[in-house]
Amino acid sequence: MAQAPAAAAARAAELRPLITRAAHAYYVLDAPVMEDAVYDRLLRELEQLEREHPELHRPDSPTLRVGGAPASRFESVAHRIGLLSLDNAFDLGELRAWHERLQRVLEKARTAGATESPETAPQGQTEQALVSELKIDGNALALSYEDGVLVRAATRGDGSRGEEITANVRTIRTVPLRLQLERPPAWVEVRGEAFIPSATFEAINRERVAAGEPAFANPRNACAGTLRQLDPAVVARRRLDFFAYTLHLPPDAAQAPASQWQALDWLRQAGFRVNPNARRCPDLSAVEAFVEEWSERRHGLPYATDGVVVKLDDLALQERAGFTQKAPRWAIALKYPAEEAPSRLIRLTSQVGRTGVVTPVAEFEAVALAGTSVSRATLHNADRLAELDLHTSDTIVVRKAGEIIPEVVRVLPELRPEGAVPLSLPSACPVCGSPLVREDGEAATRCVNSSCPAILRGSLRHWVSKAALDVDGLGSRLIEQLVDKRLVRSIADLYRLDAALLASLERMGEKSAANLMAALEASRQRPWSRLLHGLGIHHVGQVNARALASAFPGVAELAAAAQEAPETVTAVHGIGDEIVQSLQQWFATPANQALLRDLAGLGLPLAGSSGNERASGDPGEAVPASSPLAGKSVVLTGTLPDMSREQARDLIEAAGGRVTGSVSRRTSLVVAGDEAGGKLAKARELGVTVIDQAQLQALLSGALSEGAGEDAADAGAA
Ligand code: NAD
Repeated sequence: MAQAPAAAAARAAELRPLITRAAHAYYVLDAPVMEDAVYDRLLRELEQLEREHPELHRPDSPTLRVGGAPASRFESVAHRIGLLSLDNAFDLGELRAWHERLQRVLEKARTAGATESPETAPQGQTEQALVSELKIDGNALALSYEDGVLVRAATRGDGSRGEEITANVRTIRTVPLRLQLERPPAWVEVRGEAFIPSATFEAINRERVAAGEPAFANPRNACAGTLRQLDPAVVARRRLDFFAYTLHLPPDAAQAPASQWQALDWLRQAGFRVNPNARRCPDLSAVEAFVEEWSERRHGLPYATDGVVVKLDDLALQERAGFTQKAPRWAIALKYPAEEAPSRLIRLTSQVGRTGVVTPVAEFEAVALAGTSVSRATLHNADRLAELDLHTSDTIVVRKAGEIIPEVVRVLPELRPEGAVPLSLPSACPVCGSPLVREDGEAATRCVNSSCPAILRGSLRHWVSKAALDVDGLGSRLIEQLVDKRLVRSIADLYRLDAALLASLERMGEKSAANLMAALEASRQRPWSRLLHGLGIHHVGQVNARALASAFPGVAELAAAAQEAPETVTAVHGIGDEIVQSLQQWFATPANQALLRDLAGLGLPLAGSSGNERASGDPGEAVPASSPLAGKSVVLTGTLPDMSREQARDLIEAAGGRVTGSVSRRTSLVVAGDEAGGKLAKARELGVTVIDQAQLQALLSGALSEGAGEDAADAGAA
């Protein structure tokens, strides 16, 4: 829906200077100030505003420009034939719309044109062939040859004038200095993409960081920066490469190609490197298949690509379709789904997890990212929230890469509306209203009211999970009903439920009620290590619970030892001071003591039958001996993209690993997330293997049965 004129004018006034600044930073300074996808969407928004409100058109609008003005360091040269931009399509729907528009334009030109040539005329419904080329993420170059010799190379600049960088381009080995043609035309203009192969890009950035220089944002900027080096020797060392894709010849040239496909061949014959993956497509569905095929395959290429450029093959038809102000009508760049986009914050909410940890969540206007629609993202904790400096109605940059959970990368304070208010975590629990607590040195803010319904729901989910008491048939929806209807106010209440009551609940019947009663009954038979794990004591995951249960005969002895003889607890393999403190706190809390009394009264196993947990045997808990994490000591550091520390700890422990707090020579692995600090540095210094979340997940998927993984994930869910 179109905005009201005043709102549209205000928004356009915000966008124009921002886009102009970003384009200058990008094209002239080679130092982008925002992500490409964010720039693209903001530019589109301005284009749309100008379309819907023609009074907003300005002669200096950034929507009318191709690229940036040439920088002054190099001589500015006029292009013999202008270089244009390409219109963008962001999905197949937009590609089809472009194709339909093109058909209409061609049809109109055909009926209007008197000088029709029979070969090139659109034949009724027959479609014209199209050429699909990978869109190489580099910089367009204009190469001028005279009598077969390279006389000039220039950047695209503003499309009609660019910077003369011939000396630098001569260092690119795949740009022929002389065309391999017997009788070259008087002049030849070639357009193509200079780029830096991915491996070279990484090497350059490593060197720059080592030399204390800022890293390039992406290969395209590295390439642009290199092409504008004043010293061609530096350019030569950077090993740029070049793919040719457009050919212009004098009108009277002999054997001039009649199609883009033939032009690519001509360029190849003349000695250029032409991307081998281009494909001539008989119709649009073949183009769509190409787009589909390369959406994954492109990641295996040794250079960066960001889309597919689709061009009408027939050059005579291209001419007939013509140009808009800044782009040809006969071509379109289809961009692969962006992983980043701007969105507008709607509200900040917070969710409360089983351990009472309160996580801020940004809810924003839905955006399509990496192929899915995204409208919320967690902000981890109060520190992250403060670091983002989030205000009401802020424009935020959201990212979702592949399978990774969405995140808010940053805010664009330039677009902040007047009167916006800074946002922070609430001081009271959003579920139960009790004051929130943040302890010194802790990143987490917590609700410490143990009867908070959110904590209760989380605790129940954890209690019934496979690795704990393994109660089949008690899913999240049912738990929600039980808590909301106040039928269950503590874990113990689960064992007071009766079949008739259960059968009366939504989506329940007599059969499922009876099954659940049987499952609850069966859960009373689990070894007490499972119960200990199920209590959800901070730091007491599956492995620690098992170790404690084999060292102490029951909960009473463990509680007494934790309070009176903590050294007997830390003597247990894998148990440190942090865990003992957590046990002490838990056992000292009156509500927890009441829960234990209640559970004991209901006949739940608070001790091992023989006093020795291992002797009681529990095949369900066995960790596969082949687990790559078995017996390993693992340190977690930084923020993992989509796992809380607790989830990671549970998963590692379920796979037989031990999570410890500090890095030493005995540490087997360090899992590092964002903003990992001292521990990561220490690991590097000691030569300890460092992995990221994806590598951890890969290790775990080899080590864990699906069930164990799900349990741990569920345990941390709010
Ligand atoms: P474009 O990247 O959308 O498309 C045109 C360009 O595609 C051509 O100039 C050419 O260099 C390239 N290309 C690659 N392969 C090609 C092929 N096979 N055939 C034809 N062309 C091919 O348009 P643009 O005008 O160059 O620049 C817009 C791009 O720059 C966008 O991706 C935008 O995100 C980015 N940009 C970013 C910022 C920022 O702040 N991050 C600012 C300005 C522009």
